[in-house]
Amino acid sequence: MEKKRAALYRSLLIIFALVALCLLLSFATNNNYYRLMLAVIPIWAVLGISWNVFSGYSGLISFGHAAFFGVGAYTVTLGLVNFGLTPWIGVPLGAIVGALTAGLIGIPTFRLRGVYFALAMLAYPLSMVYVFDWLGLQEITLPMMRENGPAYMQFTDNRWYQVVSLSLFIVAILTCLFIERSRFGRSLLAIKQNELAAEACGVDTFKWKLYAILISGAMAGAAGGLFAVIQLVVTPASVFGLVISAQAMILTLFGGAGIIWGPVIGAAVLLPLSETLHAELGHLVPGITGMVYGAAIILVMVLAPEGIYWRINDLLKRRKVSETGDAPAPVAVSSRAPAMHETRRARSGEVLLGVDNISKFYGGLGAVKEVGFEIHTGEIVGVIGPNGAGKTTLFNILNGLIQPSSGRVVFNGIDITSLKPNRRCAAGIGRTFQVVRSFPRMTVEENVLIGAYVRAENEGDAWRRAAEALGTVGLTGRAHALAGSISTKELRLMELARALAGDPRLLLLDEPLAGLGADEASELTDILKRLASGGLTIAIIEHTMQAMVDLADRMIVLDHGVLLTEGAPEQVTRDPHVIEAYLGRKWAAKHA
Ligand code: ATP
Repeated sequence: MEKKRAALYRSLLIIFALVALCLLLSFATNNNYYRLMLAVIPIWAVLGISWNVFSGYSGLISFGHAAFFGVGAYTVTLGLVNFGLTPWIGVPLGAIVGALTAGLIGIPTFRLRGVYFALAMLAYPLSMVYVFDWLGLQEITLPMMRENGPAYMQFTDNRWYQVVSLSLFIVAILTCLFIERSRFGRSLLAIKQNELAAEACGVDTFKWKLYAILISGAMAGAAGGLFAVIQLVVTPASVFGLVISAQAMILTLFGGAGIIWGPVIGAAVLLPLSETLHAELGHLVPGITGMVYGAAIILVMVLAPEGIYWRINDLLKRRKVSETGDAPAPVAVSSRAPAMHETRRARSGEVLLGVDNISKFYGGLGAVKEVGFEIHTGEIVGVIGPNGAGKTTLFNILNGLIQPSSGRVVFNGIDITSLKPNRRCAAGIGRTFQVVRSFPRMTVEENVLIGAYVRAENEGDAWRRAAEALGTVGLTGRAHALAGSISTKELRLMELARALAGDPRLLLLDEPLAGLGADEASELTDILKRLASGGLTIAIIEHTMQAMVDLADRMIVLDHGVLLTEGAPEQVTRDPHVIEAYLGRKWAAKHA
């Protein structure tokens, strides 16, 4: 906690120093052009921050931020021209209109992924250029209010513009700082690093993406409004043009996306450089600003594809690791687990999960066909079957990652068939994946924290739950390691802790022992036994039959998508159909 507070104070100090430096520079120069430039730089920084809040954190690349910037600019301009509305009100209004536009654009576009999302976002500002042209709003000049300039945000001394734009910058960066340090920012970062895993551990991905685009739209709208005030003239191309979105994106990608300092570094390096070159050499080299941005993006792609900040951060971390030798701490499992076969637990009799005639077809292929079974509170159910039998598809249907073609899933007496994964997680279904789905740029503790939010009452409670879950799996010693740098066993334990942190009633484990050595597998099996003896209901897919026989109270066997049989492990493993389809005669002979 102390460390986090120190980091916060450090961030505030840097922001204060940046603002002071900007003000100092404008007092150091008498050149009006440079003073205006110093007023415009914070506006572009705000646009970069706005892009970062949405695209940098969530990973959904937007080529469309000019749409929000442009509506902000036109709100201020049309407000002043048509209604005499002062920009002091017009700029906040521009922020609201920017947010509304962002929401209207975001809601239908979130369905798209990757390049399709990026291209769809590009279409909005481009079409706005034509719409505003068609509306006859080609070029609008803001009237000069000579009588009472300051009341209309019009100043004779350009340094006042800088004070206003720096104020907007402070609001934007403090908002960003708050987002980054909250559940909101962590959820966005989790979405960026693995959206499916985020959904599965309770992150409402749609909600957080919507909040992000609303805030991002508000920032861009306010920046556009202020830009109109300083430029005094607005055209569709100058505020909705591709160059606006590109500038927001390049500033952030250059500095580093997904971190508060990314757009700040981009703005601090690229804007003074491009603007100074434009002022000094613009008459000799037309379009020199574009050349600076082009060169910056090429340089960054070659030398630091994730941006300057992340490059420096990685270098510093690597140096620290080589100096201290950051060897993984041994993972301690705190208490001895009881052997499962000694304590096969009685079912409570209550049905926790009911799977009713579920099918899933991919074209003509039936991955799961008319499967039905029940899981009772407190039991461990093993799901076995040959490769391609439909086990993972079944789990994906149970936690909502895919919708079944037909059939129903009832959990705790409620039909959850149409619920999204995050709602199912909130209802009490946790899961791990066949191939671990981590958030690699977060620490082990933060990964688990993401899973804790769904149940936590507040931030402190979430951290407490995360620490407790880490303790349960014996991973406390690795809490601060980056998830991208830990071993397979630790990844498996971390994913288990992430699911446990959400306090599930039913845990779905998809091949949790895959990739582990014999000792590691038995360590993890012991943890699972301990969890089960604590009353947790578990459904587990596993190919290691000995572990399954050791763990499971009951087994379900799938083959070619159909339920072959179900029953006690001793009974199932002797079933000739199961031996034929999955176990093989050798296994049967060996374990006869
Ligand atoms: P394994 O033990 O190898 O993990 P599994 O029992 O988990 O296998 P599934 O991954 O559920 O099997 O796959 C069941 C069948 O459905 C396979 O034939 C697979 O190729 C097919 N399948 C799974 N997902 C899709 C998809 N998205 N599109 C088309 N076919 C799919």
